[in-house]
This record gives sequence, C-alpha cells and structure tokens, in this order.
Amino acid sequence: MALLLAATKTRPVFWHFVPWLKVLWYVLAVLSVIVFLYGVWRPIQRYRRGNGGPWPPCPWRELPGRLATGARLLFSHRTIERRDHTAGWAHRAIFYGFIVLFAGTVILGFDTDFTDPVFGWSYFHGNFYLIYKEVLNVFGTVLIVGVLVMMIRRTRHPAKLSYARPDRAPGDQQYDRRVYEIGDWAFVLTLLVIALTGFVLEGVRIAMSTPGYGGTQFGGWIVAQALTGVSESTLAGLRHGLWWFHGLLAIVFVASIPYTKAAHMLTSFVSLSLRDPLAGKRLRSIPPERAAEPAGYGTLADFSPLHLLQLDACTKCGRCHEACPANATGRPLSPRDVILELREQPHPHDGQSGIGGLLGALADGNADGTGFDASVFGDDGVRTETVWSCMQCNACVEICPVGIEQAPIINQLRRRLVEEGELDSNLQATLEVIHKSGNSFGENKRRRGRWAKELDFEVPDARKQPVDVLWFVGDYASFDPRSQQVTRTLARLLHEAGVDFGILYDGERNSGNDVRRVGEEGLFETLAEQNIATLSDCDFQRIVTSDPHSLNTLRNEYPELGGSWTVMHHTTLLLELIESGRLEVANRLSHRVTYHDPCHLGRFQGEYDAPRRILELVGCTLVEMPRNRDNSFCCGAGGGRIWIPDEAGQERPSENRIREAVSLPDVELFVVSCPKDVTMYEDAIKTSGNAEKLELREVTELVEEALVASPELARA
Ligand code: SF4
Ligand code: SF4
Repeated sequence: MALLLAATKTRPVFWHFVPWLKVLWYVLAVLSVIVFLYGVWRPIQRYRRGNGGPWPPCPWRELPGRLATGARLLFSHRTIERRDHTAGWAHRAIFYGFIVLFAGTVILGFDTDFTDPVFGWSYFHGNFYLIYKEVLNVFGTVLIVGVLVMMIRRTRHPAKLSYARPDRAPGDQQYDRRVYEIGDWAFVLTLLVIALTGFVLEGVRIAMSTPGYGGTQFGGWIVAQALTGVSESTLAGLRHGLWWFHGLLAIVFVASIPYTKAAHMLTSFVSLSLRDPLAGKRLRSIPPERAAEPAGYGTLADFSPLHLLQLDACTKCGRCHEACPANATGRPLSPRDVILELREQPHPHDGQSGIGGLLGALADGNADGTGFDASVFGDDGVRTETVWSCMQCNACVEICPVGIEQAPIINQLRRRLVEEGELDSNLQATLEVIHKSGNSFGENKRRRGRWAKELDFEVPDARKQPVDVLWFVGDYASFDPRSQQVTRTLARLLHEAGVDFGILYDGERNSGNDVRRVGEEGLFETLAEQNIATLSDCDFQRIVTSDPHSLNTLRNEYPELGGSWTVMHHTTLLLELIESGRLEVANRLSHRVTYHDPCHLGRFQGEYDAPRRILELVGCTLVEMPRNRDNSFCCGAGGGRIWIPDEAGQERPSENRIREAVSLPDVELFVVSCPKDVTMYEDAIKTSGNAEKLELREVTELVEEALVASPELARA
C-alpha cells in the first residue's frame, strides 16, 4: 500500500497545456539554446584571432592535469574565499544551488522528453520524485540565501566594489563606470527571481492538488499555506502565468549567459585551468617566428587567445584593485580597470546613457570583436602612465579568483611601449647603462667584487675553482654602499660556518629580472645568455643569491633559456646553517621586530618561513604587520619602478609600509631580506619622519648579532 502511494507521488509536467502551447515552449527553448551557442561561438572566434600565443597555451599532454586542477579550484572555491570568507561562502551557495537546480531541470527534461516518449519508461515519480523534490528545495533555499548575502554586501558599498577609477578624474567620461552596477544588480536579481518563482510555482501547484506529501516540500508548502482559500480557477490562472514567467526568465537567462556578467560561468574555469602556474614569475619569451613583428601587445590582435579569454573572465570582484599597491598609493592604475578597459576595446560603452548604456551594462563590457587591430593605448584605452605605474609585484595575479594574468598582460603592454620609445627618460638611461656595463649602477664590471676586498679572507672566484655554493650576489648587494655592509656580513657568516663558496666577480651580470619586467625583452635575453654561459662553465652544486629578484629569474626563467640549477635565497641557507649547528646562536636577542616579505621572495617563491624561523631562533619577538605573507605590500621598487622617479607629492609605497610598521605596538626594528628593500626602506624611514621610532635591519645582520662574539665577525 505504501509502495502504491509512493508510486503515485509525482507532479504533472505541462499541466493543462494545449498542444500548441507545448510546441511554443519547445520552440522558445530551442531558440534559447541557439542564442546561447552563438554567444559561445562568437568569442571563440575572437580568441582565435589572437596571435600572441598558442592555443592551448600548454602542451596537450598537460591538459588533463590542468583541467583537474581547474576543477579542484572551482569546486573547492578556494580562490574565491581567500581574504573574503563571506563572499566565498555566498558564492559557494549560489554555485552549488545553481548547479543542483540546473541538474534537476535536466533530469526532469530527460524523463519528459526522452525516456518516457521514446521507451515508455518514466522515473519521475514515487520515492525518486520525493527525494528529487527535497534536494531541489534545499539547494533552492541555499541559492536564495547566497544571492541575498551578495545583495546585502553590495548595499554596504565595499571599496573594492566601487568602480571609481584611479586613472580618471571625477567627472571624466568613464570615471565611475556606475553603469556596471546595473549589470551586477540585474544578474543577482534575475537569479533571485528565478529561484523565488520556482518556490511560488510549487506552492500554487500544492495548493491546487493539496497532496498529502506537500508538508515535506517546505518552500512550496509555505506558499501553499498562504494560498489557502483561494479559488481553484484563480490558482489555475496564477499557476499558468507564473509557469510562463518562471520558464521564460529561465530560458532568457540561459540564452544571456555568454553575453552578460554570467559569462564568467563559462570562462573562469578555462582561465583557472589554463593559466600559467608560474604566471608573473615566468614571463613569456617572444617566439622566434614572431621575432620580426612588433613586440608585446599594442592591439587586441597581438594578444594570446588565453589572455583574450581572461579579459572576458573578469567578474569585477575588485580584489586585485584592493591589493594593488599602485592603486593604494594613489597612482593611476587599477589592474581591474586595465582588464575592463581592454575588454571594452574598441567600443567603451561606459558613459553612454539611455538604452545604449543599459545594453552595454547588461553586456558587461564584452566587446564584439570589431576594431581588433586598433591601438589599445590612448585616452579611450589604456593610458601609458597607467602601464608605467605597475610594480610587477604580482599581488593582482596572486589574489585573482579566476586566474587572470594581469601583471603579464601589463608586461606585454610595456614591451610595446618600450619598442615605441614610450618610456620614462630615466628608465631609458638606466637600460642603456645596463646594456653597456652589465649592471644598473653603471659601474665598471671589474668593481663588482670590490666589496670583498675589505674582508680579511679571500672570497674564491667560482670561475677558477670548484665550489659547493656559487653566490650570485646581484647588483644592489654588490654596489650599493649600505647593502655592501650586509653582503660582507653574509660572507663572514658563510666563512665562519665553513661553507665552500665562491662568487663570479666581473663575470656576473644583472640577472635581468627587472629588465624583463620593464618590458625590455631583448636586453633581458642578452643578460640571461651571458650569465648562463658563465655559470655553465663553473663547477658548483647550488646557487645562493641574496637578491630575491635574481632568485626569481634564475629559478623560474633561466631554465627556458637552458640554465637549470638548484637556486636558493640566502635566508634559506642561513637557516640551514643555524639548524645544523654550523652557526651557533650564543646571544639570544630581545628585539621586538616586524618583518617585511619581499614580493619576489614571498609571493613569487612562496618562501615565508625561513626568515621568520631565523628571527625566532635568534630570539627576536616578531610582530606581524596586518599585510603580511602573500598579502605583503610592495616596497615600490619592482618592475623597474626603482629606476622611475615618483611624482612630486605622491605617497611612496615604501612610506605607506613604514606607516603600517610604526602603527604596531613597541616595534623597534623593521627587518628585510632583499637589498632593494634595504635601499627603499632606509630612505622611507627617514622621509616618513620615523627615524626616531624605527631602525632597519637585514636578517643577516641579526644573525651576526646573535652569534658567538668573535673578532672575525666584527662589523665591517
Ligand atoms: S603587479 Fe602589482 S602594481 Fe602591477 S597591477 Fe598588479 S598589483 Fe598593481
Ligand atoms: S581581474 Fe580578477 S581579481 Fe581583478 S576584478 Fe577581475 S576577477 Fe577580480
């Protein structure tokens, strides 16, 4: 009896539909799918026109692994909940709610349109139906909660969701992009109305048929209670109207996915899967077959297919906008706006009013692909000062939940500007100096090893004798007077610990990391080839460098050019020496310190622990700044910015950072582990007026201070 009762539990599909209405529904549904498919086909044709890189952007054999990684990130929502748990959980609710409701529609359609008419077999009844309904009720509710949380969040106007642009003045056309807000609200409201009308429709149906099992279908059941006493004919009319409203909204939504903000549902997975796992850390070489063409990106046709797709994948979440140190210190750059600017090329719709503006807002800036060969630079496009404001710190790449490669895209824009001579004169002069002398200080190359003359032992020349550790010193550690003190300290520590090490003396060249990030690819290749040739002639086990910028390029970029070695930062080696007892900490220090993660050591290499562990072992008390580890704030030197003068009156990122440090209680030392940080922060401590409150130390100097007192270790 119970089985019989269960078997009758179902819900009629196309209840009271005359045949032509059914036909109309199917025609509209097929039309919706056609519009959807056209919307998918259209950008694919656009991506195919991008000739700045291969498709797929990785070898075919890597595709399964890449797709598996993309799926893991998508289903875990790990990238979305980073630094914003509320948005992460709300998006997760919408994502899973949508997937389950969509799957529910497919399951019902499969029964109604295939298994029942073709095989005479229907599964949409009985216990299957009851479980189906419960699952859809739960996930429908989850979807509504997620959408409501997102809507409430938007009403609070978080800074990262403001579309006001740092590269435009208030009042300028395209300044506030407020029209985008219409598109965002249309998206969440559509989802909400589809989900709510689903529940109301279910409630009307329950009220009409008053089935005994309606109580477990809580969403519809609540609505059904509210409709108690309404006449059968009114309910029937209501149901019919609601059915069409709900159904039409759903198929219009499906059809609109590729054209609106919802497009990220299609593109984000591809972007997450196919992005370079070392995006920003390893910039793309110019393929030999394109060597004769203009370098970098000057038009959309120059873009790689993946980068074109990534322009469409941006959800405008604003996380990169919030994390960008250039934006935070008032420079005319927001990585989000660069992506949107490029996406809108060549027809920026913002600022339009009326129906044009509304359609543009709903279309979320997706360009139609015309004008593909127009320049992306200029007042209606990306401004050169925007491109040159970037520090290539990778904070944007690190935080983007959909895997967009903002910094590499900006780097490609720089390559074109460098080629066209659109660069700061100081920067140009520095590049010429590096080209002539092999270092950014313009020093004679024979002076590169002069810092070692003040030591009372000889530092071996790694080109003349085999060594265990080859020390790639780097420009700043070799030539800058303050950093030379640190360099000599490190040399004494290595000597004291009995490390078999040597340097390249005048054989070393600037590693090219920052030259490449400036966009001077040709000079980078020359420098890299010279270093690789020198290193290849040496006999060593591993490379140690005191410069995180050199560490990045030696580790991540030289292998592609034929130079593949084990490369480590000096803090990793120092930790190894302390933990193995080769350097003995005798005087535990009592300093209260804060530590700044250099972009190229932290975000670029994921090395956060070695410097912190050293500080702990030497007895320092570490007080973290609010922005630490992967959220560390750039000193402002990266991407060649150290060679470009700041605008007068502009806050420098290094001063912004020092203000963060002095706001910590009782911190006396600002500890760094990068020679460029030594220069930037020594200066910023003074210019920000904090010389009385804070002193700078390099990690190496604290290790020396904590060692057994030894005349050999007396400071130079
Ligand atoms: S790399 Fe850094 S400075 Fe450049 S856009 Fe990204 S976050 Fe901003
Ligand atoms: S580029 Fe990425 S992080 Fe930036 S707004 Fe777009 S989706 Fe968000």
